[in-house]
Amino acid sequence: MSSGNQDTVLAVKDLRTHLFTKMGVVKAVDGVTFDLKRGETLGIVGESGSGKSMTAMSLFRLLPSGGRTVSGSVNLEGEELLTKSESEMRQIRGRRMSMILQDPQSSLDPVFTVGTQLMEALRIQEPAPRKELRKRAVDILRSVNVADPERRVDNYPHQMSGGMKQRVVGGIAISGQPTVLVADEPTTALDVTIQSQYMELLNEIKEATNLSIIFITHDMGIVASMCDRVMVMYSGRIVESGSVREIFNNPQHPYTKALMASVPTIDRKTERLFSIEGTPPPLWDLPTGCRFAPRCPVAMDRCMGEYPPTVSLVAPDGVAHEAACWLAGDADHE
Ligand code: SF4
Repeated sequence: MSSGNQDTVLAVKDLRTHLFTKMGVVKAVDGVTFDLKRGETLGIVGESGSGKSMTAMSLFRLLPSGGRTVSGSVNLEGEELLTKSESEMRQIRGRRMSMILQDPQSSLDPVFTVGTQLMEALRIQEPAPRKELRKRAVDILRSVNVADPERRVDNYPHQMSGGMKQRVVGGIAISGQPTVLVADEPTTALDVTIQSQYMELLNEIKEATNLSIIFITHDMGIVASMCDRVMVMYSGRIVESGSVREIFNNPQHPYTKALMASVPTIDRKTERLFSIEGTPPPLWDLPTGCRFAPRCPVAMDRCMGEYPPTVSLVAPDGVAHEAACWLAGDADHE
């Protein structure tokens, strides 16, 4: 569990990333603030379009065309990333901050052996003789538990199982010994086997290293099994954050409660991802009040006109618990 004494490796303040489109300015990330401690796993949870993946891409400064971070701060171990040049960012991506995707197909090139791809990742980080790079590639395959790495290093991706390819992708992601690893789980393509292999790999990486991990998911069940802290996003903003235990024991925001109701249990299988009707508001035409109001079962008149303040609650574990809802906690919001 995270504690206030651990050192902060990443501090994100009031991050705003907009997409400039024909429909208008899409406020994909609209004032996001959080920090990440060393060795901590932070879950960012929300449905499609909540801004969770765009937040991650903003950290890497890898935005789609028309996308721009218009303000805020992303501080990695004391260094501001938003003012770095593109060539400086290339030194950071893959080394100090790297990303691992759930789908190994999209990360590996079918025409090169996995050894060549690993060696290329290593060479970019630190040029070395081919023999040395190959030895390191074998060591990395061994570190992510690929059996018979001396032989496997010469395999093409199609000669490997899905689980093994995922391990190679994991190996590439940690080859630069990053401080922060971002693991992005797509909202679609829920192949249960691939998903469980992905979780297993991430858990092994967590145990073997002191990496700080940002885990992006739509699934509160996965958050419960993987994360120390969680941040719930809705329409570009954080609506609730706290330790996993506290959020599960004492959720405040109706959206968090709805996400939790979507977690399948042994007695209750959920066919739908979300148990709440409706869709989020268009991000180019946001309401002035609470963005969840049109879907909220307990919305009041006030919710329509005024965005709720962020309320800090006293959590028994001492980890900050915050929620942006007029009904959060016992606070008097006058
Ligand atoms: Fe629902 Fe109002 Fe809370 Fe928004 S502020 S989540 S509409 S009760």
